[in-house]
Amino acid sequence: MVTRLNPLLNKIIELQKIDLEVERLLAEKKKLPLRLQELEIEFQSISDAASRRMKEFEEKQKEKREKDRQLQTGLEMLKRARERLFDVKTNKEYQSLLKEIETSEAKNSSLEDEIINLLDSLDGLEKETKVKEQEFATLRDDYEQEKRSVTEAIESLDRKLDASVRKAEELKRGIPPDLIKKYEKIKVLGHGIAVVPVWKEVCYGCHMAIPPQLYNEVQTSDEIMTCPNCNRIIYWEDRTA
Ligand SMILES: [Zn+2]
Repeated sequence: MVTRLNPLLNKIIELQKIDLEVERLLAEKKKLPLRLQELEIEFQSISDAASRRMKEFEEKQKEKREKDRQLQTGLEMLKRARERLFDVKTNKEYQSLLKEIETSEAKNSSLEDEIINLLDSLDGLEKETKVKEQEFATLRDDYEQEKRSVTEAIESLDRKLDASVRKAEELKRGIPPDLIKKYEKIKVLGHGIAVVPVWKEVCYGCHMAIPPQLYNEVQTSDEIMTCPNCNRIIYWEDRTA
């Protein structure tokens, strides 16, 4: 730290730095729970999609079981109708039984087609589910990892905030109350910035030129001075670096 004629100025500059750091940490901390919320929403939508797929799979399985049962019944009816062919007495009965067998065969055949289609789509769904489950597992790992890291970031921010607040408190103990009061008042009016450097006759708070006389005084006097334009506390600093 540069040695200044008034050591209180150093403390005020340091206090400003800490206060800005606290502001930055608070802003960062505000964003993190939002990130957690976003993550949860993303994860929820993926897990909803997985549930929907599972439900569709189960419905198709149920439908297939129902068709299997119908086909079983159809095949038994067909078998019985064929057996009855040997017992018919009249041609009319025979024709009617043939018609019944034909209808039954057609119905069974279409049931078989439907079952084949269902098997195909169950097969497709099963393959899709396997792929999606793998994706889901990866996403869940990512989600959990990111959730952990966001939680850790919040904890780390809390520790930093705590340390900064304590440092500011300690620093304030070495600054006269009236100067702190002045600092706080300027900070409110100056949108969070109360102390700014001047360099080459320009105030870095308002970017306006300051009188040459004041610029000289800032460099040589041990008084705490303020910018005539923005009223912030000013100190000299080489800004070439
Ligand atoms: Zn200014």
